[in-house]
Amino acid sequence: MIPVNEAEAIILEAIAPLTKTETITLEQGYGRILATDVTGNLDIPHWDNSAMDGYAIRSADLQNEPVEFEVIEEIPAGQTPQKTLQSGQAARIFTGAMMPSGADTVVMQENTERQDDTVKIIENPAPGKFVRSQGDYYRAGEPLLKEGMRLGAADIAVLAACQCPKFPVFRRPTVAIFSTGDELRSPHEMLQPGQIVDSNRYALSAFAESLGAIAKPLPTVPDDKNVLRETMQAALAQADIVMSTGGVSVGEYDFVEKLMEKLGGEILIRKVAIRPGKPLTVAKFPGGKLYFGIPGNPVSALVGCWRFVQPAIKKLSGQNGDWQPPFVWATSPQTLKGAGTRDAYLWGNLTMTETGYSFTRPSGGHSSANLINLAQTNALAVVPLGVTEIQKGDHLKVMQIST
Ligand code: AMP
Ligand code: MG
Repeated sequence: MIPVNEAEAIILEAIAPLTKTETITLEQGYGRILATDVTGNLDIPHWDNSAMDGYAIRSADLQNEPVEFEVIEEIPAGQTPQKTLQSGQAARIFTGAMMPSGADTVVMQENTERQDDTVKIIENPAPGKFVRSQGDYYRAGEPLLKEGMRLGAADIAVLAACQCPKFPVFRRPTVAIFSTGDELRSPHEMLQPGQIVDSNRYALSAFAESLGAIAKPLPTVPDDKNVLRETMQAALAQADIVMSTGGVSVGEYDFVEKLMEKLGGEILIRKVAIRPGKPLTVAKFPGGKLYFGIPGNPVSALVGCWRFVQPAIKKLSGQNGDWQPPFVWATSPQTLKGAGTRDAYLWGNLTMTETGYSFTRPSGGHSSANLINLAQTNALAVVPLGVTEIQKGDHLKVMQIST
């Protein structure tokens, strides 16, 4: 049994990022991983423009008492100014419109009084006020976005603004997913006594998709060595990562680990000091593919995904930086119990309070088989191995999850 951090390090060490890329459009970009550094060839802003509706003026014309200006032009957004401002002149200007040459400052219209072709400034702006100068935010040719960034809404906006309508991203990793167990049926079937729905298939697929991977669910496998072997082979042949649930404990029908070895896998991890989810089996196959044999209990299965498969998929995707799940410090109004020789990962809800994050467990039984009270939780609190309990109000580490 190895500690959680060690297991995570072994997994990250074993996985190599994908290198194949594809070129996509802005509409397809959300959540994808940029496969090149991007440099723009436009200054942002492209030209000096007004940040307010008001009047463009020359700041040298301002005096201690209110000054009147002759309004010589109106410049709406999208138009090119036609005139150069001389001393004593102003141009009516609107937010986002180009500054006329000669002007260096904008007076907001609330601080002016307009009469026909003259405008009086009743409150002086500081020189240069309300002008967004060319290149203030970005200079053409400077680094803009970096390879390995996961593109969010703001990044897509930046690519669009810099006229990069097509760009390379790493291809999405594929994750083959299947469940093992004689008792498992589909949600559409009538259940006989002893049978349950294979919910892991859907949970794991949703998990993989949430990280930008392509889930490839395979048919559910009975506790039959031959079918299991064939499915494992098919899974390894068609995906970058394989996840199967069930069959990794010490029961008589738990064949996964032995078959991994028979199929040429090198077992990297057999058991991890975590509750729930101790019997996690990870093997590396020729070509560098990782196979995660995850316990079948529905809570253990998802905890295993969030804690161990998540960093693997992030690194595989070509994403840079931090592959570790996000952790925050929190306190709990409840006393949280440990798991002796293992880290206990307790599922619950992280909320923001006036004094920081607060973690609470949901009501109901906290068994790793209890899928029901896992729903709508958003975090896993960690009671480290060797710690019997964390008293209410004491600080603890909490892993954020997106359910
Ligand atoms: P196993 O890891 O195969 O020993 O299964 C442990 C527990 O998880 C048993 O109670 C199984 O019935 C349950 N289980 C296994 N696989 C699934 C699955 N795919 N969906 C829901 N529950 C499962
Ligand atoms: Mg089973």
